[in-house]
Amino acid sequence: MERFFLELEPPEEAMRAWPHVVVVGGGFAGLKVCNALAGEPVRVTLIDKRNFNLFQPLLYQVASGLVSEADVASPLRQMVGNAPNIQILLGEVTDIQPAERRVVFNDRSYAYDQLVLATGSGSTYFGREEWRPLAPPMKILEHADEIRRRLLMALEEAEQTVDPHQRAFLQTVVVVGAGPAGCELAGSLIELMHRAVRRDFKQLRREDCRVVLVDPVERVLPTMAAPLSAAAAAHLQGAGVELRLGQKVETIAPGRVALSGAAGASELEAATICWTAGVRASRLGRLLSEATGCAVDRGGRLVVEPDFSIPGHPEIRAVGDLCCYGHTPEGTPLPGMAGPAVQAGGWVARDILARLRGETIAPFRWLDLGSMAVIGPWYAVADLRGWHLTGLAGWVVWALAHLAFIPDTENRIALFSKWMWQIATRQRTALLITGRPDQHLGVDVGLFRAVRPPA
Ligand SMILES: Cc1cc2nc3c(=O)[nH]c(=O)nc-3n(C[C@H](O)[C@H](O)[C@H](O)COP(=O)(O)OP(=O)(O)OC[C@H]3O[C@@H](n4cnc5c(N)ncnc54)[C@H](O)[C@@H]3O)c2cc1C
Repeated sequence: MERFFLELEPPEEAMRAWPHVVVVGGGFAGLKVCNALAGEPVRVTLIDKRNFNLFQPLLYQVASGLVSEADVASPLRQMVGNAPNIQILLGEVTDIQPAERRVVFNDRSYAYDQLVLATGSGSTYFGREEWRPLAPPMKILEHADEIRRRLLMALEEAEQTVDPHQRAFLQTVVVVGAGPAGCELAGSLIELMHRAVRRDFKQLRREDCRVVLVDPVERVLPTMAAPLSAAAAAHLQGAGVELRLGQKVETIAPGRVALSGAAGASELEAATICWTAGVRASRLGRLLSEATGCAVDRGGRLVVEPDFSIPGHPEIRAVGDLCCYGHTPEGTPLPGMAGPAVQAGGWVARDILARLRGETIAPFRWLDLGSMAVIGPWYAVADLRGWHLTGLAGWVVWALAHLAFIPDTENRIALFSKWMWQIATRQRTALLITGRPDQHLGVDVGLFRAVRPPA
């Protein structure tokens, strides 16, 4: 296989002798690794299939038109590309060759001394892949765009529809999964529809706006304390969200979701169906497992050693959603959340540098910062290590935590000002229907590649 050409060698002579750390994935964990290695005596290459870092916790705000794409994503080159020892390459890693210490992307192989895998997770439909196009997940920007596009198109069509049954169908949304992402999406979509119907759509009725939240578990936010689940459920219901808890999705067909539960079978008809139910580690986990024999858990996460390395391969680490890290005081694996991903990324970078100096650092200790979910305007629930907050107090903590966590200053300022503007005006600024092929150039969006004409 062709190897990467010399232009990708570091321009500075001194750097050529430095150990080469390849980081795959510039999400929460990978970005933290890069930040911690910036300016240190190592060559770093960050490879990501996207040219930006995405702040997934606010995807629901893109899906519901509260903020736009660029408010929750920042170009990797701007974030870490200016460090002289960090090189960023766009490409999807498709293979790892641990024996040769090489990764493969863009049909070429690339050598590393140390490899940090931080490729995160995707969505799973538990073996029912045919549901994916019918009920988009919410993992990347394009998914959020698609959810917004489907809902807004349905409302536009409803505005021109005489048949009341068809209109009600077009104004119905089903959200599958009542974890934080599902609750946040459902709460935001019902608010969007109520506002839109009251102010922007003259023919639609508020009573026809319907958001149904479905989950096989008997309560929303099942990983949080029971009183917080109850508070969130009450708030969602008060806002108009219909809860179908203890009900399992049996099938999804175009415009239709069949459910089963203790009370029997039922069916929902909805123009917009969204899926926030299943998470599965990036497929690089399975790939590396086949190459090294490293175990993976049920979610496809690599079962790593206390220093996040792969058994038998101290030079390969896996961090963030890709790894199953069970070396906690309680023995329960780290949750698939931003906090553990960032903390693990920072620790691994420090450990790499320490080993290069022949030193050791204190073992990894996770600081559990708790979890939270925003359920509606001014209303969030927060479980901060046993300290429970609901309502406005929860919202303030949620807003401050998210503003502190978002890695880009420009985005922090943009989000803060947009949230304040919405609170003052109740206006959503990002309700655009974009990306329709009939409104485009006639080429598949994103697939255009410049070809140099023959001499
Ligand atoms: C809708 C939603 C809401 C969430 N809300 C919260 C929340 O409120 N609080 C919280 O703590 N957590 C939340 N999470 C979870 C949190 O976002 C994840 O735990 C976190 O993103 C994991 O970080 P990571 O670095 O492992 O992966 P990611 O942040 O997902 O980054 C993975 C990166 O790897 C890249 N990549 C993937 N495969 C390849 C490949 N083969 N080659 C090259 N690059 C690749 C991707 O492009 C991406 O940039 C939420 C997640 C979602 C989806």
